[in-house]
Amino acid sequence: MSIKHVEMIATPSAPHYVGDGFRVHNFIPSYPRMDMKRMDPFIMLDYNSKFHFPPSERPRGVDVHPHRGFETVTIAYKGRVEHHDSSGGGGVIGEGDVQWMTAASGVLHKEFHESEWSKKGGEFQMVQLWVNLPAKHKMDPPKYQALENSKMTKVPLADGNSWVEVIAGAYQGHQGSASTFSPMHIYNVKMKAGAVADFTLPTNFNTALLVIEGSITINGTEKAQGDQMALFANSGENFSVLADQDAIVLILSGEPLNEPIAAHGPFVMNTREELIAAFTAFNEGKFGYLE
Ligand code: MN
Repeated sequence: MSIKHVEMIATPSAPHYVGDGFRVHNFIPSYPRMDMKRMDPFIMLDYNSKFHFPPSERPRGVDVHPHRGFETVTIAYKGRVEHHDSSGGGGVIGEGDVQWMTAASGVLHKEFHESEWSKKGGEFQMVQLWVNLPAKHKMDPPKYQALENSKMTKVPLADGNSWVEVIAGAYQGHQGSASTFSPMHIYNVKMKAGAVADFTLPTNFNTALLVIEGSITINGTEKAQGDQMALFANSGENFSVLADQDAIVLILSGEPLNEPIAAHGPFVMNTREELIAAFTAFNEGKFGYLE
């Protein structure tokens, strides 16, 4: 057994707004030493730490915009969001749900607080993750997966009151429901104080965790508090998480694609020429139509 050590504990940077509905701390790619290559295939992570939105008749959010070349994964912890895209995908996700949108060759979409939730307002907490697509799948047709919490694979931990929810990949042989284009594991670990979870993830997989609730101790030595991210070194395979108090921990681990990245705004391609082609296609209205 070889230990996967913590390389860095990242505290959240100053928040900014995406549209008017998402008050986020960016970890990937702007945090020092967590650029698109370091966490490849995870190329962007915005974290809306717990924030109270007052009631609003007009739902807050982000209006119609395009994406091409990757997937957007929205993980809801508090609050409800509604999504619509030009390929017909859409739905509402709430606490514990995950929305996995494969933009691939291109979609227009919009992301808003769900209208009934917006009228009441409340605590809002979400992660939006961008997962890069391998070059050979960047121009695939768009796809939408709604991963409801009630249908997620949940693997109990030894204490009997804690569990690992498998969003993608597998935990101890238990497969999650998301289909992915490259090997990766994404878990939400929901732990009672005192619970311990053990993980075995390949050395070369880029691995990090985000503490959503509570505080934890990693490998018996490193402390991580709520809203902090821990980046693991690419050595060793095993690490443990002890919940110092009731905790929720998001774990990301993916095999790097190791392909060139040409990214600008909502497009993530492999070459500059492909980026220009994406802008041209968008300007020509080839991403479909969304009101
Ligand atoms: Mn978007």
